[in-house]
Amino acid sequence: MQIEERLRELKEKINDKVPKGITVTQVEFEGPELVIYTDDPKRFADEADLIRILARDLRKRIVVRPTILEDPEKAYNDIKEVVPETAGITDIFFDADTGEVLIEAEKPGVVIGKNGTTLRDITRHIGWTPKVVRTPPIESSTVKQVRQYLRSVNEERKQFLRTIGRRIHRDLPGKDEATKDAPKKDQWVRVTTLGCCREVGRAAFLLSTPNSKVLIDCGEKPDNAGGTPYLYVPEIHPLSQLDAVVLTHAHLDHCALIPLLYKYGYEGPVYATPPTRDLSAMLQLDYLDVIHKEDRKIPYSSNEVKTYIRHSITLNYGSVTDIAPDMKLTFHNAGHILGSAIAHFHVGDGMYNIAFTGDFNYAKSRLFNPAVNQFPRLEAIFMESTYGGSNDFQQPRLEAEGRLYETVNTVIQRGGKVIIPAFAVGRSQEVMLALEEGMRLEKIPKVKIYLDGMIREATAIHTTYPEYLNNELRNLIFREGMNPFLSECFQQVDSSELREKVISGDPCVIITTSGMLNGGPVMEYLQNLADDEKNALIFVGYQADGTYGRRIQKGWREVPMGRKGTITINLEIVTVDGFSGHSDRRQLMNFIGQIQPRPEKIFCIHGDENSTIDLASSIYKRYHIETHSPMNLETYRMV
Ligand SMILES: [Zn+2]
Repeated sequence: MQIEERLRELKEKINDKVPKGITVTQVEFEGPELVIYTDDPKRFADEADLIRILARDLRKRIVVRPTILEDPEKAYNDIKEVVPETAGITDIFFDADTGEVLIEAEKPGVVIGKNGTTLRDITRHIGWTPKVVRTPPIESSTVKQVRQYLRSVNEERKQFLRTIGRRIHRDLPGKDEATKDAPKKDQWVRVTTLGCCREVGRAAFLLSTPNSKVLIDCGEKPDNAGGTPYLYVPEIHPLSQLDAVVLTHAHLDHCALIPLLYKYGYEGPVYATPPTRDLSAMLQLDYLDVIHKEDRKIPYSSNEVKTYIRHSITLNYGSVTDIAPDMKLTFHNAGHILGSAIAHFHVGDGMYNIAFTGDFNYAKSRLFNPAVNQFPRLEAIFMESTYGGSNDFQQPRLEAEGRLYETVNTVIQRGGKVIIPAFAVGRSQEVMLALEEGMRLEKIPKVKIYLDGMIREATAIHTTYPEYLNNELRNLIFREGMNPFLSECFQQVDSSELREKVISGDPCVIITTSGMLNGGPVMEYLQNLADDEKNALIFVGYQADGTYGRRIQKGWREVPMGRKGTITINLEIVTVDGFSGHSDRRQLMNFIGQIQPRPEKIFCIHGDENSTIDLASSIYKRYHIETHSPMNLETYRMV
């Protein structure tokens, strides 16, 4: 059936279900959504259950938009008129792309009104679909820029979403004529490993069927060589053939090379959660900056980062979304960093279900709930194995915090400085919260905690998406009005003058990037502070092979830094386990022990060779599930 015919048929079905008097003017696929245009958005909004029923019956994500949207200027005034002043509206963004108006307010409850009455009132007045969010306590320039940019390319994006929408809902060969082109027995599902096997980093997996191809993650290897996944293999070329790219989370070993795909001809969407989109854009731009400063070859420009943003489609946890004619994607919380997701794919009409965990934490952390391991269906899972080795046990978090406090106390008392290298996203915020509480409860002396690198901006993005934080932290911030991120103990280092002052100044704590000492401001601190034994370097995160972090952790005391000469390490080296955003060995085993339903196959990836092999064989022995520890460039047939 042609797409036009299909849309006509859908329109008829919708017209049958909507009450008499509501006109449906047009029905269109836009990205993964089915958009219903109507002259009566007010009546649609009044029929509280209508959209839910349509979505259920048509098995599509449905958005209703007025055929004509009210002029933003006028709509702005209407909103101000309808919403009581006590709501404290701080900003109103009109996103013509989705027909949504984002209302930022200090008291979102007042904008919504009792049982949503005020909100329905707004919709009735303006046509735009209101989305209410709480005013973030720290303004993020990244979020602002991303929103502004998306508005500026509105027309282009609309066209893109329609193209993608039609592509997702295209007819498969043989669908109407049962066995002609693709008889049932020729159905298959395969996964090709393009990186991240028996190693940590350069995540990239190709999930393919006879009808579609999806790339999951596209990261770089966090060593000094900046390794890339096997992107030149014939399986994924031409890139224009890919249906979708799915990004599990914003760390560079998963997202750094996504903009590169656009440079080489990819034109499709990248699916990610909203925080992942913003955090990844921020980290990619910072990544280009770091490479530039180090005189390395820049793989792509900031233009390609923009292209990526223009092609991004955001999905929240739990929303089941068509991304190809035979594939539905659902994101679930992975507990690893803000917005991190386990990507679950429902392939064919229930033929096969496969999940990619990305990085995940099966323990509750200060910031996030534990990773989800309950799925409607599951036949295979690709799981990370960073701490999969038989001895990879981490301290419980409270013990880890105790150890951190102890080290900070000792170093500050002897007049030294503490350097904590951390990923800008994830570890930094966990450590910030632990240190802030330590000072508040007087477990450690009140000294300045300097944040250098993208940490403050990353923190701002955390406060933009409170719904992605765990309940306790959200309550602390919003109910008790006590946002630990805003504590006076933190100070951002935003100039080289201040950095010099920090280096020559009083005892303090410095949290800075990069987390594995493969570039970034931490290198400057190390160069200046490493030879003084009063100081300390505290590792709180995983150090991958080939990084300076790993070398120093292993005990190197003379570290050659290429043109920058050799750094002599006299400062104290401490490793505090337990802050990691990854599950340790015990949690990885429990994740599988308690997973619902039990998969038929498990693939252990994203860990060094010993860890993946060890975890795979232990899971097999304990749970009698078929396991693999794949190598790069292998293809597995699932069905
Ligand atoms: Zn990660």
